[in-house]
Amino acid sequence: MNTKKWFLLFIIFAFFNVQAFPQVKDGISKVVIDAGHGGEDPGAVGSKGKEKDVTLAVALELGKLISENCPDVDVFYTRKTDVFIPLYNRSKIANDKHADLFISIHCNSADNKTANGVETFVMGLHKTESSLDVARKENASMLLEKDYKNKYGDFNPNSPESYVIFSLYSSAYLESSVQLASKVQKNLLKCTHFRDRQVQQAGFWVLHKVAMPSILVELGFISNKSEEAQLLDPTFQKAMAASLCNAFIEYKNQVEGNSAALITVPETKPQPKKEEAETAKPEEKPSVAEKPELQPVDDPAPQAETGVVFKVQIFALPDKLGPNDPKYAGLKNVDKYFEGNLWKYTVGSEKKFADIQAVLKTTKEKFPDAFVIAFKDGKKIPVPEARKLTE
Ligand SMILES: [Zn+2]
Repeated sequence: MNTKKWFLLFIIFAFFNVQAFPQVKDGISKVVIDAGHGGEDPGAVGSKGKEKDVTLAVALELGKLISENCPDVDVFYTRKTDVFIPLYNRSKIANDKHADLFISIHCNSADNKTANGVETFVMGLHKTESSLDVARKENASMLLEKDYKNKYGDFNPNSPESYVIFSLYSSAYLESSVQLASKVQKNLLKCTHFRDRQVQQAGFWVLHKVAMPSILVELGFISNKSEEAQLLDPTFQKAMAASLCNAFIEYKNQVEGNSAALITVPETKPQPKKEEAETAKPEEKPSVAEKPELQPVDDPAPQAETGVVFKVQIFALPDKLGPNDPKYAGLKNVDKYFEGNLWKYTVGSEKKFADIQAVLKTTKEKFPDAFVIAFKDGKKIPVPEARKLTE
């Protein structure tokens, strides 16, 4: 085995070890808000302003709004001032707090000065060059860290090859992250009137390392004159923070089964129409949240197993994989079902909980964050309920 393969293996193990607590909790009581960049890392630089200042203003306002409107939620920040925080420490702060959500705030930039719009990312392998570009730019912050080689190994944020590690990404948090990302995207579009670049996946180091549902939002393009003017406007920043707060409240309501009221978002003026078009047409980007081909139309409905069955879920992905995909890591008879805009891949099918525990144990050797799920007559039910029915 050559060094490259060893390195890849090391990364795979290092990666899986992070996913220590894959269960999404019932309530949202702690949120970490991550203002991108800071200090000697300005992030993207526009003609008048810097990304680090926009992200901090929006992050502080968002935290203030969540504290005021959701008194049961503790808000933590990765930074509250203009200081440099290594990427590594940002995810560590979130994991140490055992937060329920991680929201990373950024602004986009591109060489093409007409590029514009809002996009929200969840962790995963990029599907387009432009998603990879965004991840490259955001991950490049690590190059400013003095001991970056020690912390990130051979990961080179500028090398597309380094991103291969993210093709193995699977997480119990992906579905929740996509849910939150969709709400963030919807609320921001309503407030900013910016173009919809949709919910996307890409390999962000900071998201890769957090053990909780997480998103990274690109509020708009600081490299675009018209969007920059709005991103730098304090009233516009307050409006963006209010729409992020509403996305948070909507997500919290959904998780907790509540119907807490949304807050008022300050009015913002839509951009003049002529500014909206990009001169170079952006590549068609398949969205994670609203991909029509995710609908299992061509899939004959699997024969629903009658009674209660337990299965082991190994991962969830926006993509439908073939029967012998290498992502199964050699596991045979991998089954799938479609839920929450994701394909969920399972192994085993047992009538008794004790029997599925044995399957889980062997599956965890290859997929440490695998977990047990249950169905009754083909419909997913909570595992405790399934256990009551079978014991
Ligand atoms: Zn950024």
